[in-house]
Amino acid sequence: MDKVNEIKRFIANKGIEADIIEHKLLGLKSEDAAKATGFYIGNIIKTLLFVSEDNTIVTICLGVDKIDIEKLSGISGLKKPRLATKDELKTILNTKPGGTPPICLPEKTAVLIDGKVLEKNFVIGFGGSEFIGLKIKPNEIVKHSNAKIADITIDCMNEETKTHTALHIVKGATQKVLGTVLTTSVYVDDSNGRLTVQCGNKPTNEEIQRIELEANNCINENNEVKILEIDRKEAEDIFGNIIYDVFPVPSHITKLKILEIENWNINCCNKEHTRTTREVGKIEIDKIRFRDVKQLLEISFKVI
Ligand SMILES: [Zn+2]
Repeated sequence: MDKVNEIKRFIANKGIEADIIEHKLLGLKSEDAAKATGFYIGNIIKTLLFVSEDNTIVTICLGVDKIDIEKLSGISGLKKPRLATKDELKTILNTKPGGTPPICLPEKTAVLIDGKVLEKNFVIGFGGSEFIGLKIKPNEIVKHSNAKIADITIDCMNEETKTHTALHIVKGATQKVLGTVLTTSVYVDDSNGRLTVQCGNKPTNEEIQRIELEANNCINENNEVKILEIDRKEAEDIFGNIIYDVFPVPSHITKLKILEIENWNINCCNKEHTRTTREVGKIEIDKIRFRDVKQLLEISFKVI
């Protein structure tokens, strides 16, 4: 029996709540898997086999994360673990690269699952082939793979994620100080960001200083950056139009991701964010530009 059918049978026999997603695009990397299955990249997971001289372990983490070899070694006891070769994958798990599923592994396979996977409502793993996705709840993986939950990924938040999150913080600060509500555009390049909002008057230097101060206060409070996945209609009923910016969300999108920093900013946004405001670091406003005719205020800042 091939692996895909074996997985289908495994799901049926155990009564697991999971969907098999067949797709035509090759989904070897997480970005490709997201495109192929039509799901958000933040929900894609990867299942990897690590081997050492005398032992093996399977790790499951988010596709956007990387396994920290030192942490893995410390937790699993494997000395100098390395990724398995194609042949080892075949021999040990009877799978191939881009096909290893998070469940339905050979009995007694040791499995570690990164804690961040458990924060998702559902995840998409491979379903036995690079053309098959498996949509499943993280706790079903834990249960049926007997996976141990641990922190096994590298703690690095990339600069763009920090800078992008800073946009939401600066937006909240600008709203608080100037009363501006609508964002017309945003720009991020590494640790440099620019927020453009509709604004009737050129702000004073004191007001700009206050925006910077308020933004850094919000960071230092270490507020949670919450992400809600919610039906569009429901989101509009609960939050109203404040979730939208001037750039429209296409009408065919029926599910929205809503970012909320409580009492600060609420915005429809499908980008990656830090988990708390403190992870952003510190914000410094570089310069502002007020465009009188268009009534636009551009705030350029950097994250340090
Ligand atoms: Zn965002």
